[in-house]
Amino acid sequence: MSFSIRISLAFIVAATVYSCTPKPFAASNKQYKKQVKQLAKTISKIPKDSLMSDSMKLPENWVGTINYGLRKPNIVIIHHTAQKNCEETVQSFTINKSQVSAHYVICKDGTLFHMLNDYLRAWHAGVSKWGTQSDINSSSIGIEIDNNGNEVFSEAQLNCLLGLLTNLKKTYNIPTANFIGHSEIAPTRKVDPNVNFPWKRLAENGFGNWYDDTTGIEIPDGFNTTYALRIIGYDIHNLPAATQSFRRHFLSVDQPGEFTEPEKKVLFTLMKKYL
Ligand SMILES: [Zn+2]
Repeated sequence: MSFSIRISLAFIVAATVYSCTPKPFAASNKQYKKQVKQLAKTISKIPKDSLMSDSMKLPENWVGTINYGLRKPNIVIIHHTAQKNCEETVQSFTINKSQVSAHYVICKDGTLFHMLNDYLRAWHAGVSKWGTQSDINSSSIGIEIDNNGNEVFSEAQLNCLLGLLTNLKKTYNIPTANFIGHSEIAPTRKVDPNVNFPWKRLAENGFGNWYDDTTGIEIPDGFNTTYALRIIGYDIHNLPAATQSFRRHFLSVDQPGEFTEPEKKVLFTLMKKYL
C-alpha cells in the first residue's frame, strides 16, 4: 500500500469516527459504553447467592443451561416530551441528574434519535400499571415525541413514528393491543401524548386497538363500565382518572366526568376486542 493511500485511508477513518461522535455527546456516549460493559459483566457472572438457601446451595447447584436468549420488549409506550425542543430532550437524557430516558426521540422535522439499545431498560414509565403489569419499564420500549404538550404532531413525526413502530412490531412480535400511551399506564400522573395524538390512524396501521362503529349498538343490561376499563388494562383504583385517560385516547377530549351513553357504546365495542 502506498504512503498516499495509507494517508487517505487514515483520513477517511478519522473523518468517520469524528462524524459518528457528535462532540456535545462524546462524553455521554463513552459513559453509555462503560455502563453496558458493566451490565455485561453482571450477567456473565455465575450467581453466588441463592433465593432458596435451604434447598439449593450455590455454586454447587448452579448448572448453566445453554438454551437461552435476551428478553424482548412486549409493549410500546408513546409519550410527548412537554419540553421546548428536541435538543432539550436529548440533552436531558444524557445527564445523570434527570434520571429519565427513552429508547427513541422523534423531533418535529422527523429526525429520529435512538438513545438506548431496545433490549435494555429505559426509565420512561415511572410508577405505572397496565393489566397486572406494574414494572412497565422492564417490558417496554419508550418513544418520546417532541411536543410542548399542547401542539399538533407534525406529519414528519408521524411518518417517522409509523416506520419505527412497523420495525418494532415485526422485530419483537409485539401484540397490536400493546401500543399505548403514557397516560394509559399512569392516569393519575400523566396526560401524554396529548389529545392531538392520532390514535385512530395508528390503529388503522396495526398499532393499538380501536372501536367499531357504534351506530345501532345496544348495550346489554348490567354492562359495567368499571370492569370494561379493567378488562382493557386500565388501573381502576382512581376511576375518574382512568375514565379521563380513556376519553383522551379514544374520544380526543381531555375532560373529566362520568361516561355518557354514547361513550359507553364506544367502551362496550372496544372492550370486546380484549375478550
Ligand atoms: Zn410520558
